[in-house]
Amino acid sequence: MLIVMDHAATAAQIDAVNERVKMMGLRPEPIPGSQRTAIGVLGNQGYIDDSAIRNLAGVREIIHVSKPYKLVSRDFHPDSTIVTVGKVEIGGELPVVMMAGPCSVESEAQMFASARIVKQAGAHILRGGAFKPRTGPHSFQGLGVEGLRLLRQAGDEVGMPVVTEVMRIGQLDDVCRYADLLQIGARNMQNFDLLKEVGKLKFPVLLKRGMSATIEEFLAAAEYIVAEGNSQVVLCERGIRTFETATRNTLDLTVVPLVQQLSHLPIIVDPSHATGRRELVPVMAKAAVVSGAQGLMVEVHNDPTQALCDGAQSLDGAGFAQLMLELGQLRF
Ligand code: PEP
Ligand code: MN
Repeated sequence: MLIVMDHAATAAQIDAVNERVKMMGLRPEPIPGSQRTAIGVLGNQGYIDDSAIRNLAGVREIIHVSKPYKLVSRDFHPDSTIVTVGKVEIGGELPVVMMAGPCSVESEAQMFASARIVKQAGAHILRGGAFKPRTGPHSFQGLGVEGLRLLRQAGDEVGMPVVTEVMRIGQLDDVCRYADLLQIGARNMQNFDLLKEVGKLKFPVLLKRGMSATIEEFLAAAEYIVAEGNSQVVLCERGIRTFETATRNTLDLTVVPLVQQLSHLPIIVDPSHATGRRELVPVMAKAAVVSGAQGLMVEVHNDPTQALCDGAQSLDGAGFAQLMLELGQLRF
């Protein structure tokens, strides 16, 4: 970390900063310049919380060299992490893993029909939300534990591991009883208590990017999980909030190669929530694979016109089968 002092900073102010750095167990190294003094901070093992320094008199700017994440970084762990979900492996150079299924579990008939469709087309992991983080309280909130049970049954019937969202710590016991992969949704990416709790489990986690999260915040959120001992984390880009309203979100595909440079964790892309529009899903799914995504999460419903949630972005059976065909032709 480098502390840049104001050009008018007094010797007493510089001394006060030096003393504060020492109090933090670190070593200040003043670098006097012709215009201003900078103070290098040495001896840290990682990111320094600068809140005790930032407001001291005479401090102009603080420049961080270390990132707020370490365990998830490739510097720390050069080999790609492989995450195992049931018998499915995600990460590294392994083939693209397809997660597919309805936004929400709505009924036994809908869940089983959707499961058969995605299985037949060649998907690897079945999705279905039971606890739904809906924008408004009047929308369908999911079937809860009954939804988990139906998802599990459908997954067992077609022979696929299942992924579903957990929204709070109190739901963890139930979700772990039925799921193979715990999804933390965009709205909970910075629910730090939840992140710490899933970090204590021996359970793979799918962490979706918050809708306004920077890449640094995304990786710092994953760091919370890994820091508790659980490195089985898959990251998921699902679009970020921008000024554009023509799509539900803006798909940020640059995050894929960037995260792969910065981190050893696998990253997948969800083109359904990123676009909100069915007709855009296949092309963005293919773009995601070309960008290097190690998996995709796609919403598929046996009858999207009747869906209780996200029908407009859900593919039907024929649409998903076609996408799988096109993705198969893409692999190089
Ligand atoms: C979901 O995948 O069901 C979901 C709610 O997505 P997100 O958290 O990305 O909005
Ligand atoms: Mn959805």
